[in-house]
Amino acid sequence: MWTLDRNTELHHWRATASACGAVLAFSTRRGGVSLPPFDTLNLGRSTVDEPDAVSANRARLLTTLGLDPAKLATAGQVHGTRIVEVTGPGHQSECDALVTSVPGLALAVTTADCMSLLFEAPGAVAAAHSGWRGAADGMPVAALRAVCERAGCGPERVHVHFGPCNRGCCYEVGEEVAERFPEAALRRDGVPKPHLDLPTASRIALVAAGVPDAQVHDTGACTSCEPYWYFSHRRDAGRTGRLWGVAALAGNSRR
Ligand SMILES: [Zn+2]
Repeated sequence: MWTLDRNTELHHWRATASACGAVLAFSTRRGGVSLPPFDTLNLGRSTVDEPDAVSANRARLLTTLGLDPAKLATAGQVHGTRIVEVTGPGHQSECDALVTSVPGLALAVTTADCMSLLFEAPGAVAAAHSGWRGAADGMPVAALRAVCERAGCGPERVHVHFGPCNRGCCYEVGEEVAERFPEAALRRDGVPKPHLDLPTASRIALVAAGVPDAQVHDTGACTSCEPYWYFSHRRDAGRTGRLWGVAALAGNSRR
């Protein structure tokens, strides 16, 4: 379902099929113009990178995806569970997920260890940012409900996609965090502290909420393991760039 596309100068994860006619992608750090430590495809404005470089990187990715850089909606991301429905471009502060039914409008969330989740339903898409706090507070299911409401469908019609994030191989957490998750989402063998697998935790919650397991798709990529491909906030001690998860309904775009 997901492939790391190296055919363009700007390598990115793209969905090989969309159940609902959506454009779905996750960025890597390759193919942009930013200088170290933001090299090279930094898409985050919350960094001290040159704003012009971030703008150029954003336009480069959206154009590669066949989307219009002027039709972009972004989220402020405060590690909460608030979701905003958008009908046009702009930045929505104080929220961690966006949902829309407007074709050609790109929804983007930024990450560098947290997970981005993309949702597609007939006539609606959503993009959500969810780290351990969002996952523990129920962001995956909250975003699922928002996209179902917008599309007027049940969870059995929704496909969900997980982007690169810090995973059970690397993501050490304290016991106070671990105890908020099912044991199936934790790894305790051979490690001094529990490791949390955000994709497993999110999959368990989404399947329990009615999404068929076969409709939860995962890139399988770990931001911490692979410095060539991904920014990692924890590995890089905060001095790093940001990745994007992007979702748009097809139509009314440049392509
Ligand atoms: Zn890893």
